[in-house]
Amino acid sequence: MIAGVLVEISNKNVDRVFEYSVPETLKKDIQVGIRVLVPFGKQTLEGFVLEIKEEKTTGKELRDILNVVDSDVVLTEELLLLGKKIQEKTLASLISCYQVMLPKALKAKNGSKVSIRYESFYRFQPVPNVSFTKKQQEIVNYVEKRTIVSKKELNDFSTSSIKSLIAKGVLLEEKKERYRVQYTESSLSKKELTEEQQKVVSEVVQQTQQNYLLYGVTGSGKTEVYMEIIDFYLKQGKSSIVLVPEISLTPQMIERFQKRFGDKIAAIHSGLSDGEKYDEWRRIARGEVSIVIGARSAIFAPLKNIGIIIIDEEHSESYKQSDPNPRYDAREVAIMRSEYHHCSVLMGSATPSLEAMARAQKGVFHLLMLPHRVNGRSLPPVDIIDMNQEMKHSHGHFSKPLMDAIQERLRRKEQIILLLNRRGYASFVTCKNCGYTFKCPNCDITLTYHKSSNTLRCHYCGYGEKGYRECPECKEESLTNLGVGTQKIEEELQRIFQDVRVLRMDYDTTSRKGKHEEIISDFRDGKYDILLGTQMVAKGLDFANVTLVGVINADTSLNIPDFRSSEKTFSLLDQVAGRSGRSEKEGRVILQTFNPDHYAIALTKNHDYMSFYQKEMEIRRRLKYPPYYYLCDIRIKGKDAMMVFQEALKIKKSLERNLVNMILLGPSNAGVFKINNIYSYHIILKYKKEDSLYPLLKKILDHYQTNVKIKIDIDFNPSQML
Ligand code: ADP
Ligand code: ZN
Repeated sequence: MIAGVLVEISNKNVDRVFEYSVPETLKKDIQVGIRVLVPFGKQTLEGFVLEIKEEKTTGKELRDILNVVDSDVVLTEELLLLGKKIQEKTLASLISCYQVMLPKALKAKNGSKVSIRYESFYRFQPVPNVSFTKKQQEIVNYVEKRTIVSKKELNDFSTSSIKSLIAKGVLLEEKKERYRVQYTESSLSKKELTEEQQKVVSEVVQQTQQNYLLYGVTGSGKTEVYMEIIDFYLKQGKSSIVLVPEISLTPQMIERFQKRFGDKIAAIHSGLSDGEKYDEWRRIARGEVSIVIGARSAIFAPLKNIGIIIIDEEHSESYKQSDPNPRYDAREVAIMRSEYHHCSVLMGSATPSLEAMARAQKGVFHLLMLPHRVNGRSLPPVDIIDMNQEMKHSHGHFSKPLMDAIQERLRRKEQIILLLNRRGYASFVTCKNCGYTFKCPNCDITLTYHKSSNTLRCHYCGYGEKGYRECPECKEESLTNLGVGTQKIEEELQRIFQDVRVLRMDYDTTSRKGKHEEIISDFRDGKYDILLGTQMVAKGLDFANVTLVGVINADTSLNIPDFRSSEKTFSLLDQVAGRSGRSEKEGRVILQTFNPDHYAIALTKNHDYMSFYQKEMEIRRRLKYPPYYYLCDIRIKGKDAMMVFQEALKIKKSLERNLVNMILLGPSNAGVFKINNIYSYHIILKYKKEDSLYPLLKKILDHYQTNVKIKIDIDFNPSQML
């Protein structure tokens, strides 16, 4: 018996299957999809068995497989096929396409640290003619009644008596796997669906294989619809995947699913340790779970017999993996898996991506709509405040209307969400005297001042240094903070509104385990008046007492040099606006901006997604951007800027020579030219259809494979153009 093994090594030269012979002792264990240990040169490596056959294809002597790593298959037949498709689409190495599907604990480099956790139990075993002391008899009585008890349960009994009972053979020690995450039983919290919701559910469950786009305004009850559809398939013995952006995978969301489906769910999120993720993965692989809810990588959950794949907040850029390889799009992978399982994909959003809506308009996706909120209220009215006018008579970051509205909510004991999409204190520090600005020594970007720690930090590489009193250049004490971050706004709120209770939610306050959960439950319990944060506060949250949403500066995302900046701005503003007035009380939204006439801002006034869509499509058509054209971003990277540029030119020439139906841009400096001392240039390709593109790019990748000074990254349909 011969096994074809793909070894876990990140060198592309060995990204192919090697043959090994299977020793007699391992024949019963070796299956396609199992992990094995193999000799490779002088090393011992892990690898995946991709094929089993009788005859070898070379005349060479084959080496033996050393052992199996796990007792079960880790890659199902479906996932093995899927990996190959993803490789074709992304041009990444095959091994990286398989590694991305598995939890960290199953990757060769990290595998040793995380292990299966066991719990000890004692089983009662009747033994004739033994006598017990009084203490021993108590234990025997306890265990005999229950047959089997965990070691923990016997904590209060004497350890020496337990030991003697073990010696007498009355207690048998047993070990059982114990999962690190425990779910409670469901406590059925099903809502009576509205007619609109019911109609969507019926349409979806009627068809067996169809791609749907559900365009439903914020608070229209999409999540409730998802759960009803999942329930339908659950009753047919089928499983479901629900993808949500990491940022909206909040404890609130998980709790809703857990309440309805109990321990049939596995929730995979960044708050879990590697061990917890590993356990969740094994529950899924063993078929103990029917519903998987998680961020991007949950699309690879090893579920069998899938009935529906749901992608919430379909427009989220988090569904595209931008780094490292494979640069896959979970929305595309969802469709690939649905083809295998003959099931439907349902993508939902209040602000669908242009790509998805364009497909829906063409009939490629079937369009479903939930145009109304479930509570029967209209969407909250949005006031757009022109800060150019406001700045004439005020200095802080709060306009008069926003201040008044906050004051009123505080008086009425209602809650407020404030969005400022920039963490830290100030966006950069500069000297008023000589104009010096603080930049990261490794990256081509200004440092951000963090007041609480008195440090200047780089948001790209994490570099940090202590804050300064005087300018390092001219030695004057004229340093000033320009721009504004969440920390500064928090301080200003405290100054303006006495005794206001402000809770800050951003990357800095949520990085510790459990903090995210704590913030959400504290705010829900009314311990705070204002929840202030970055885009984390915009998505997925549902607080009944929030009646005001304020946006400090609606322009932050508009100024990013990216062709999607308008789309991202409209979507962020509409999402955060949707956090207001979700229950009985009427909600209101106030947006502060320096660009009140920009369509991405003006059109949020009436939550007018369709007008935004049409306007933005027109611009994309004129500028030849997606969804009219495909994009491919080729990045050429290295430490020597000049050499990188020369190679980029060579690549461009070769593309020009070989491709006809293609618009070529660049090479140009990447948005951040230097990160961690690595320079990068882009070449951007725009095309509708180009058959020779993939083979040509493969050749280019192969060519640079052995070049240690130049690295090439290829990103098809990049989610951001930085
Ligand atoms: P979306 O996901 O579209 O923003 P949700 O599903 O979160 O909307 O629903 C918004 C709020 O309305 C939630 O508090 C939810 O529990 C409630 N809700 C949804 N559907 C119904 C219904 N049919 N009856 C009563 N309340 C509902
Ligand atoms: Zn840096």
